[in-house]
Amino acid sequence: MAALTWSEARRRAESVAVESYTLELDLTARGDFFTSTTVIAFTARAAETFLELAAEDPPEALLDGVPVPASAFADGRLALRGLGGRHELTVRARLRYSRDGEGLHRFVDPADDSVYLCATSSIDNAKRWFACFDQPDLKARIALRVQCPPEWTVVGNGAATREAPGTWRLAQTEPISTYLVTLVAGPWHSVRGEHDGIPLGLHARRSLAAELDRDASGLLRLTADSLDAFHELFEVRYPFGEYNQAFVPEFNWGAMENPGCVTFRDHLVFRSRPSESELLARANTIVHEMAHMWFGDLVTMRWWDDLWLNESFAEYLARRVTPRVTGLPAGPDFAAARKSWGYAADRRATTHPVAGNGATDARAALDDFDGISYAKGASVLRQLAAYLGEEMFLGGLRDHVRSHAYGNATFADLLASWSACAGPGTPTGADLSRWADEWLRRAGVDVIAVETGARAGAAGAVDGPVLRRHPPLFGPAADRPHALSVAVLSGCAGESANRETRTRVVLGGEPVALPAAGPGEILLPNAGDETWATIRLAPDHWERLPAVLAATPDAMARAAAWNALRTGLADGLVAPGLAARAVAAGLPVELDVVTARLLPWITAALPVYLAPGPERAAALAAVADAAWALLTGAAAASSSQLTAARGWVGLTEDRETLRDWRRGAEPVDGLTVDDELSWLVLERRAALGDLTDAAIDAAYAADRTASGLVHATRCRALRPDPEAKAAAWAELVDPASALSHYQLSALADGIWVAGQEELAAPYARRWFDDLPATAAFRGTMSLATLAGLCFPALAVSAETLAWSEAFAARTDVPSGLRRTASDGADDLRRALAVRTAAADSQP
Ligand SMILES: [Zn+2]
Repeated sequence: MAALTWSEARRRAESVAVESYTLELDLTARGDFFTSTTVIAFTARAAETFLELAAEDPPEALLDGVPVPASAFADGRLALRGLGGRHELTVRARLRYSRDGEGLHRFVDPADDSVYLCATSSIDNAKRWFACFDQPDLKARIALRVQCPPEWTVVGNGAATREAPGTWRLAQTEPISTYLVTLVAGPWHSVRGEHDGIPLGLHARRSLAAELDRDASGLLRLTADSLDAFHELFEVRYPFGEYNQAFVPEFNWGAMENPGCVTFRDHLVFRSRPSESELLARANTIVHEMAHMWFGDLVTMRWWDDLWLNESFAEYLARRVTPRVTGLPAGPDFAAARKSWGYAADRRATTHPVAGNGATDARAALDDFDGISYAKGASVLRQLAAYLGEEMFLGGLRDHVRSHAYGNATFADLLASWSACAGPGTPTGADLSRWADEWLRRAGVDVIAVETGARAGAAGAVDGPVLRRHPPLFGPAADRPHALSVAVLSGCAGESANRETRTRVVLGGEPVALPAAGPGEILLPNAGDETWATIRLAPDHWERLPAVLAATPDAMARAAAWNALRTGLADGLVAPGLAARAVAAGLPVELDVVTARLLPWITAALPVYLAPGPERAAALAAVADAAWALLTGAAAASSSQLTAARGWVGLTEDRETLRDWRRGAEPVDGLTVDDELSWLVLERRAALGDLTDAAIDAAYAADRTASGLVHATRCRALRPDPEAKAAAWAELVDPASALSHYQLSALADGIWVAGQEELAAPYARRWFDDLPATAAFRGTMSLATLAGLCFPALAVSAETLAWSEAFAARTDVPSGLRRTASDGADDLRRALAVRTAAADSQP
């Protein structure tokens, strides 16, 4: 089915204005299909146009009462001819429920056989559940009527009224984009509240009722505090009536900002004890989605190439508001969890500008939901806020939201709003435009390096360390000024707090002199995590990092150092063994929210950069020992104890101890092996070849839940058994597979395991041979996610690299696969370089 292109969308926006959609959904039939009837009121300025509908058979369509011939329907588009003026179109179609989380997804809860539906329209999946002109700048009012089983509750964008058992009406909305239309239906367990005149609702599956009730007051308080914060920030009230938050099963994204009814993946209703990191991530997601009500929903990008106007702003606003409403350490977490993601994306060949990513069609736009559109954009906005000053920055945002309410806007509109707020002493509109060109319209991440040696200056050569800016590895050179601090950090415990000194610099094209570091000290640029750059320590300072990380009391400085270490490892400047030592040394002093990110990262990274063998085993064992020490030294029942336990389980090869970590056991004082921890242990045991099929069956029988089903599926694929891998692969490429996207993800995730490289080797080549055909029966997002999970990143060889490069150059495969292959090639190239250097240095 063809994706809508940018040029088609532009033409259509000029020829059509949509007034309203009135949907009637009949969800009463059993089986795979439902009936969708849409009445569209629109005005046409051109004689011809088309709308989208992902139906298998031609729909029944009436244009102003006259039947539209079946021949007008092809390839998911209904052609409309003879237009002019105001029209009413009725389209009635039989559509298929989805299992891949896109369109109207149907889920049967294994806990109690209840059925739940959730509609996800983003990016271009509204057509999978109703006929529409599916592009962000054709906003319209939406009203729904739903027929469903009598015990169901229906929630959507407009306030829901139950007219009779099984008959629901959802009030007409303000004008919204089609990608924001949603519906959740099923026997939900709901908790209601109210804040400042805004009705609030929380909804989750019946089988999660106790968990939702346990968390409800905290969630409602967080929602209320965040609404207050955004009302103060935007000076525009929440514009969409009720504020429902539905935690829905088998959801592909973290969450989706549908006005009136935000949908979240229901892992966020924790069924086992959460760590502080998970609580912070949930709060951050809640705040992020709420920020979209203004940036994204009230004012919407015109086309997907301005995706950053949605995501960078929501991410920036969440970074700003979350610490205020939670009191949790969001700054170090942002550096560890989000910036590291963005840096990884920005150092690849597929890097793109934050603003204007060039998305040519709606499907390709999915590739840009990456660390650049989110974390880099947010980091650049932090620099921009500092550059413009708080008054001009916020003034521009408020003007933008007021000026384009219920409409669409571009980056140029936003720049105009900021320029309108320029005053004495602030940058002018021209300054801002130059700044935006360098930072937002040019791709790539600058390298900021501490270098030693002579610095040419007006007064002649000066000796000593200097800070120098280098152009990005990928992307054009740009003249970006960086405002940052440089710290002298000591590796001597206890002294560093006193000895630590900071220098604030603005680094442009000319190098800046730095104070000298003493023995055991390092110079750390970006110590307050102020800017967006690849940080290079002086060559002889990397070795000092483990001691410095163990002795530095400032969590932000450590967070910046961790990001320097991560990029140093990827770029071949830091040996994998040194990275392992740094993590082991840093764990005892690190914040729990950062440890929760560091341990999974190092566990995944070491096997990529170290070939199987004693060096890899030793590095992993060193981190495992450090995690064990953290676990046994942590306060009973603390979050750090839980984080350390999870980290250790992912690393250890100690089968005997793992066997004792049975569900319900308390292997360490204060640490109970609850449902999720128990599955983590079982997954590790499966990967180590210490779990039988019967044991997996028994574990699922004891935890017959949606989560248990996915874990059991992953356990099966993780086993070091050729038949297990073959069965997983067969399911992944089978057009008739009945498994959900979540189960398929678990299978894809289980194929490549460190230590099982030989066993999985046949599935390296098959990735390139088999996956393109799966695009025919897979949703865009599902395809890209699965491809990433089973990409042969551990098949580090020149051959896999050559296959990846050749695949990335193909034009006959979906862009999501091409992007995965290209990014995979970058990672393989780095891994090969590190492994080759290590082999060359062997005596
Ligand atoms: Zn978002």
